[in-house]
Amino acid sequence: MIDIILKKGKEKAAVLRHPWIFSGAIEKVNGAPANGEVVKVCSAAKEFLAYGYYHSTSRIALRLLEWNEDRTVDKNWYQEKLKTAIASRERILNADTNTCRLVFSEADFLPGLIVDKYADFLSLQILSAGMEAIKADIIDILITALNPKGIFDKSDASARKHENMEGEQGLLWGENPPEFIEVLESGIIYHINIADGQKSGFYCDQRDNRQILSAYSKGKNVLDCFSYSGGFTLNCLQQGAANVISVDSSALALETLAHNLKLNGFKETLQTSIQSDVNKQLRILKEEGKKFDVIVLDPPKYAPSKSALDRAARAYKDLNRLGMLLLESRGILATFSCSGAVDMETFKQIIAWAALDAGKEVQILKQFNQPEDHPVRLSFPEGEYLKGLLLRVL
Ligand code: SAH
Repeated sequence: MIDIILKKGKEKAAVLRHPWIFSGAIEKVNGAPANGEVVKVCSAAKEFLAYGYYHSTSRIALRLLEWNEDRTVDKNWYQEKLKTAIASRERILNADTNTCRLVFSEADFLPGLIVDKYADFLSLQILSAGMEAIKADIIDILITALNPKGIFDKSDASARKHENMEGEQGLLWGENPPEFIEVLESGIIYHINIADGQKSGFYCDQRDNRQILSAYSKGKNVLDCFSYSGGFTLNCLQQGAANVISVDSSALALETLAHNLKLNGFKETLQTSIQSDVNKQLRILKEEGKKFDVIVLDPPKYAPSKSALDRAARAYKDLNRLGMLLLESRGILATFSCSGAVDMETFKQIIAWAALDAGKEVQILKQFNQPEDHPVRLSFPEGEYLKGLLLRVL
């Protein structure tokens, strides 16, 4: 039985295996599927396209799951997808790293499900009504597959409001995580608090980039802007940086950074934290005549959507211009954007614009992307969000 018929000519995205169908593409809904129910989606010519989650009021009315008509989306199906996702992270997890993203939503064929591993604990984000409906099965499968100490819900309200769901936070299974979970990434210890709503987890998407950048920091003076709990700072200290200044506006982030510094036994005299707005602080450092060999600029998402692009571009440009002016001759700048709306080509243009304004010649040494636990499906380019450039500023 067909549940959803698309308008004529609107089957293209599904045929190309894009997982989203917008509400405007629907011609007819047969029956009254519940929000989050798995439905059978067909073209105007009544040809099977895919199975997917339906939602009556979300702009993304269908989140496609399975393109093979003979498959049934049941607990076995979820188990297979989850096991495949988990197995593909095995390469990342080793004696030096026990934290990573195990499931990355559409990229792992599980739209609206994010699972992060923090040592023996799991943190879940359920962002679609479809996933919410089978939450108990997901938890059950995760327990069998991973035998975690506890599973914690960190489902953010803002991401859930599109599907009319409230934010959820709390223990789902097992024991409550301690106030601070100790995790290891690339041999460095970090404290993570997943339970306290004020504090957030950890940006494991920068794991590889922290390593790449820190290889340039031996004996150097480093400025780590938007440091959070010290991902770049600690990797640079581990690689023998002479000095690191970490700037973040959050007192809590810098408090955690201080903990992390101690946990790893790094010399406190080599690191200074400044709680400030980065844009303000860069101007102050410039007025003081300070210069650095290596600068990291890892700001929060400036462009939450395409419509915010112009404003975001100006903000990225200004930030990078200031960064370039604070570098010693031939200094290294690692600059990032985690805005999905800013693609790599646009980002390069913004950086070129910043270089021109700063009066600097700039060489690209490397391009940064998101790591393999945040894969990008070719049929779902929207999953690509993190990009960056490793630059030598002449
Ligand atoms: N580089 C970090 C992740 C950065 S996340 C890591 O490797 O883990 C972005 C950080 O920017 C957050 O910690 C947030 O507190 C901080 N932030 C946001 N706006 C800021 C501003 N205007 N000035 C300084 N810090 C800011």
